[in-house]
Formats: sequence, structure tokens, C-alpha cells
Amino acid sequence: RAIVRDIDKLEEQSPFIPPKPTAEVDPTVFEKRFLRMIRVLGEGHFGKVELCRYDPRGDRTGELVAVKSLKPDKGDEQSNNLSREIDVLKALYHENIVKYKGICQEEGGQAIKLIMEYLPLGSLKEYLPRNKSRTSLSTLLSYSAQICEGMDYLGSRNYIHRDLAARNVLVENERTVKIGDFGLTKSIKDNEGYYTVKDDHDSPVFWYAPECLTLCKFYLASDVWSFGVTMYEIIAYCDSTKSPMMRFSEMIGRTQGQMTIIRLVKVLQEGKRLPRLEGCPDLYFSFT
Ligand code: ADP
Ligand code: MG
Repeated sequence: RAIVRDIDKLEEQSPFIPPKPTAEVDPTVFEKRFLRMIRVLGEGHFGKVELCRYDPRGDRTGELVAVKSLKPDKGDEQSNNLSREIDVLKALYHENIVKYKGICQEEGGQAIKLIMEYLPLGSLKEYLPRNKSRTSLSTLLSYSAQICEGMDYLGSRNYIHRDLAARNVLVENERTVKIGDFGLTKSIKDNEGYYTVKDDHDSPVFWYAPECLTLCKFYLASDVWSFGVTMYEIIAYCDSTKSPMMRFSEMIGRTQGQMTIIRLVKVLQEGKRLPRLEGCPDLYFSFT
């Protein structure tokens, strides 16, 4: 023991021996064994988002996080999508964009999960119908302005979101909202200015601008169109009976698949738009 002590002392004095590295922990790497699922927050076509507690000490004092993963049977293309979503979110820092926390990798290194901050109030689509009576018009305007700030930042980084809708805007507290779900976000090269899609089966068509529907091209301005549809949803307090899908379905009648897109394009070209709702200010309506 005395010898060990002496060697330690020697080590400390010697300028040539580097100090022992302190155990380095990457705070963005979450270990699967410490991740406890609490409940499912939402489920889409390809993936799901779960509320988990990350609890390395195992005493339920760990933090709550939202964990996005792919459904098991989804192929390589979707797993690429999630990897891309992770890369996008990792590079974004804005008060109106959901915060990236890290990743969790399955043992084999195959499946990857995205760890984000957990926003307890869910999306606007869940929050607004339930909290209609205590949400004033000025709060709705503030939500719209915050989404605009977040989207402006995203555009400044040359990203197109492509899925802006109330279901993808998360509520942090009564005053603050954040854009989430970057699963369809694409980067555009400066000189091109748009992104082309070839095979997208699950397009949120009722939020899409005409050029997205006819040419499959997405510009930064296409996000502005979706923002207008999102503003409509907000002023409607996300009432599902007034949803963009319901309203456009009333205009085009019952259709399926490609026919929906053809008829939707037709009514848009005729200049038909979502209606102005009661209580919606002039200026607000002019943006939708
Ligand atoms: P998808 O790609 O399947 O649409 P989303 O990222 O939009 O996945 O998440 C689906 C739903 O899960 C959202 O509409 C929202 O209700 C919930 N959700 C997603 N992320 C969070 C989060 N960070 N905090 C709380 N709820 C979330
Ligand atoms: Mg979504």
C-alpha cells in the first residue's frame, strides 16, 4: 500500500505522466437499460413516440423524456428517415423548436431511438380543444407568431419542414409552443431552392401547396402555405369537425387516392380556400 501511495505521489509530481482521465460520459448517449417506458404519447404510420423516464439510479428520480422509435417491421428507408430526423434536430437551436437530447442505440447497433425533451401538454391538436375556454384570441395569435419564428429559423438554415400542421406543434406551457416532428424535413441546396419527392404515400395533402400536389416540388414557400393551413387550425381551436380535411372533403366530395389530389388541385385552382371562421380578424384571415 505504501508503495502504491509513493507511486501515486510520483505520478502527481511527474510532468510527463498525464493526469488520469476522469470517467467521460457523453450526455447525449442514453443507455437502453435505464430507459423505462411510462406510456405512448403518439403513434404515426412509421413510428411512435413514448414517454419514458431515464433512470440510471433506478429510484424514479430520473428525468422524463420523449422517445421516438420506428415500428419494428419498417424497412431501411424509414430507418434512414429517423436517422435523418436525428441529424436535423441535433443541429437546430431555437426556443420554438423541440429540443434534441440524444440517442439510444440498441445493443446490436441496429435500431436507433431519438430522445427529445418531453412537453407535457402534447400537441396543439390535443391541447386546444380541451383548453378552449382559457385560451384567448391573443394567445392564439402568439402561438402563430411563435410558429412563424421557428419556421423562419428553419428556413434560414435551408431546411423545408414539409409537415407543418397543428398535430406537429407541441405545447410547452400555456404561453409557449414549439415545432416538432422533423420526420419529413429535407435540406435544400441553395442553388436549387426546392426539394423533389417521387414516392410519398403518406403526404399530408390538405396542408400542401398546389406546386407540391402537381409537381411534387417543395419550396420554402410551400411551408408558408402549410403555415397558413396551420393558422386556420389554430383559429378553429383544432376542432376536428372543422379540420382542413373535413372542409376540403366537403368541397371535393368523397374520393380516394390519386383522385383526391386531382380534385383538390382543381378546387384550389378555382380559387377555393378554407373558410373564414367566426371571430377571425381580417389580417389573420389574409394570411390563411
Ligand atoms: P409522427 O412522425 O409519428 O407523426 P410525431 O413526432 O409527430 O411523430 O409525434 C406524434 C405525437 O406524439 C405528437 O402529435 C404528439 O402528440 C406526441 N409527441 C411527440 N413528441 C412529443 C414530445 N416531445 N413531448 C410530448 N409529446 C410528444
Ligand atoms: Mg407527426
